[in-house]
Amino acid sequence: MIALVDMDSFFASIEQMDQPELFGRPVAVTNGLQGTCIITCSYEARYWGIKTGMRLKEARKLCPDIIQRPSRPKRYAEISTNIMRALITITPDIEVYSVDEAFLELTHCKKIIQSPKNIANKIQELVLEVSGLCCSIGISGDKTTAKYAAKQNKPHGIAIIHPETSEEALSNVAVEELCGIAQGMKRFLNAYGVYKCGDMKNIPISVLGKHFGNPGRRIWLMAQGKDPENINTKIAAPKSIGHGKVMPPNTKNLKTILIYLQHMSEKVGSRLRKYNFKASSFYIGIKSSRGWIGGKIKSPYPIDDGRLIMKLGQKMINYGWNGEGISQIQVTAINPKKLNQQIDFLEDRELHAKSNIKNKVLDMINQKYGDLTIVPSNLIYRSSMPDVIAPAWKPSGHRRTV
Ligand SMILES: [Mg+2]
Repeated sequence: MIALVDMDSFFASIEQMDQPELFGRPVAVTNGLQGTCIITCSYEARYWGIKTGMRLKEARKLCPDIIQRPSRPKRYAEISTNIMRALITITPDIEVYSVDEAFLELTHCKKIIQSPKNIANKIQELVLEVSGLCCSIGISGDKTTAKYAAKQNKPHGIAIIHPETSEEALSNVAVEELCGIAQGMKRFLNAYGVYKCGDMKNIPISVLGKHFGNPGRRIWLMAQGKDPENINTKIAAPKSIGHGKVMPPNTKNLKTILIYLQHMSEKVGSRLRKYNFKASSFYIGIKSSRGWIGGKIKSPYPIDDGRLIMKLGQKMINYGWNGEGISQIQVTAINPKKLNQQIDFLEDRELHAKSNIKNKVLDMINQKYGDLTIVPSNLIYRSSMPDVIAPAWKPSGHRRTV
């Protein structure tokens, strides 16, 4: 089960949210005030036939009252980051696809999902809560159909396409609407009589494979609702937030699990300190064959100390883990914030001072000699396997190819 979360007219909605006088009015966002090309527009503007890519001059002919606003990429990235961080609490199996779209792999969450409709509602509520904005959600069995579904009931829509009906749902869609089909491939397909996705089954997969290699084979499958591509979690986590690791399959030894937990907690703690961040909310999860165990855990006050993060994780394991085999672990600080050094009244002052000094020394040594050169003694036995999630996420990065 895969969901695509797609924000509704993202940039224009942010402009309307930040400038209430724009609410309910046709707004076109351009690159700077000199920009002549519309990069996105509000639904009120779309009502007049205004579209992304249209020249402002043309748009004014359709709707003389159109309001132009220069884009503010920094602001959009900030809100995007908040949304993506929040989505991690639904599942850490997330692929940030663009600044306003993310795929969520929900297969492993089936146990806690009452129905696809229910989880879609939950996602919409969460996104609204953290951003004040609406999104549309498509759910299906593969990425391409989920992406198609998300467009069907915009704005603030939910569309669920059962995998058994994916092929039929896509059959009338023009092939060039599939992600990754450029002019060259479109011409090629048209020459073979393939105009709609439903026509694709009339040609053998080998024709596309021979000319376009694996991307060609993928497109043949995509058109029939069988997109084989998995969620790419490598571009998932917002920078400087979380760490995850694959564990030896079916790990049941509590001591081993705790070492992994401590390792990830220390890494998250040291990353938070490096950027002068603290967080009071964490996603801590371990993955068993029945899905992710754990979830969002709150600390009574903002923290940046791996030992305290570890304590939250230990609590989760005490309550949530029944001794079943574990294959992956994830520790993520949600919505870390730059905080001044003022101590929270809930915090133990003496402990704070002590751990502060200890962490400062640790950080100085590790900065000089490399990450985790000096660590709590337990971590001598930690795994040297690389992390699951690479810190390569860019909120401004758009991926538009297969
Ligand atoms: Mg969108």
